[in-house]
Amino acid sequence: MEMTRDPAGPAILGNRVELQLLTTLRCNLKCSYCSLGVGDVLGSQRNVTYSLDALDAFIATHLNGHEIYVTFYGGEPTLNPDLMIEVMQRHPGFRFQLQTNGTLLDGLPDWVLARLSNVLVSIDGGEQVTDGYRGRGIYQRVLKNVGAVRERVGGTLTARVTWSDEDTSFEELDQLRRYFDYVYFQFVARDGAYAPAAMAKKRAVMAQLVQRFFAAETLYPFIPIMGTVRNKVLPSRAREPYSGLTQCRASTHMLNVMPDGKIYPCPDLMYLPEMLQGDVAGNWLKRSPLQPHPDMPCEGCAAFAYCRRNCMKNLHLAYVKGDAAYRRNVVEPICDLVRFLGEEVDRHDPHAWFERMPLSVRNEVADCAVYEYVEVMP
Ligand code: SF4
Ligand code: SF4
Repeated sequence: MEMTRDPAGPAILGNRVELQLLTTLRCNLKCSYCSLGVGDVLGSQRNVTYSLDALDAFIATHLNGHEIYVTFYGGEPTLNPDLMIEVMQRHPGFRFQLQTNGTLLDGLPDWVLARLSNVLVSIDGGEQVTDGYRGRGIYQRVLKNVGAVRERVGGTLTARVTWSDEDTSFEELDQLRRYFDYVYFQFVARDGAYAPAAMAKKRAVMAQLVQRFFAAETLYPFIPIMGTVRNKVLPSRAREPYSGLTQCRASTHMLNVMPDGKIYPCPDLMYLPEMLQGDVAGNWLKRSPLQPHPDMPCEGCAAFAYCRRNCMKNLHLAYVKGDAAYRRNVVEPICDLVRFLGEEVDRHDPHAWFERMPLSVRNEVADCAVYEYVEVMP
């Protein structure tokens, strides 16, 4: 059983490690659902206080031999471009990703954009919903910036949609393909977002997305659908890159480094002292404390083979911390939607689809690099 792993074993499971550097906790937007708002994390640490020499020593001590990729995260990392630039200059052999709200993207130097393997741009679906959460004019500004940098970004541009609003439509999600190489969506972790009418609307939109995925002769680049198909057709790919644990990497190889150098497995749980996993300044690291627990229901779930414990934060809060309201109003509805996604994929016979697709589409479904940068499941 995966939950009986030796806690004294290696801190990082697998060969790769993602260093998610929170370069500042400042942000120039005030998204109403921001998860860093929980526990007053947002804005609490304005600038990085560990030295980059200390970071190098930490990397040499704990990450030696691993393939390292860095995600610049925040707050809004483009508010602190100097730190990004210095890390990129010190470690030209690493892979780099930027997670951004997109508003300042066009101000980054060309060589920085050219070295980014992926840019994750936060957006909430359509214009009305995005501007409702993020502020007037933000949707157009972000898409304009994405258009301005598209040719200059060396890697891919991925829309990161927090699917929060019940009125987000298929057309609004579908049209993001025009601006981005990939679309990733994740269900918002907010009480009140999953009333029966909202669930019905989300199911209807997901059914349309899945229908569209299987109707296309080319790749329909929606990561949660691609990932679900991958996991059903090539089930070992749902386990190998994550040592059999969650696909979001929080249990195995994602280190969220706060500006003060403290390390946590999940960026949404940095307010819980028991989640502390290491410290750059103190140069120590242990295995992620965010691990499967016997009280979590996943191993008896019909979706387990492809979902692999979607979000460990949600499972931990609901089943280990015992937050019954959160479980009922957020976690169980999201699990219902994940099972629905799998059922919709099954209705289209993913194995037969995979067999008839051209090699280029099969390769993308099997090996898309963006799987390494997002949670894969919604
Ligand atoms: S759908 Fe929910 S219960 Fe099922 S495996 Fe995923 S996270 Fe676990
Ligand atoms: S999907 Fe993973 S990283 Fe994201 S909130 Fe959940 S546990 Fe944290």
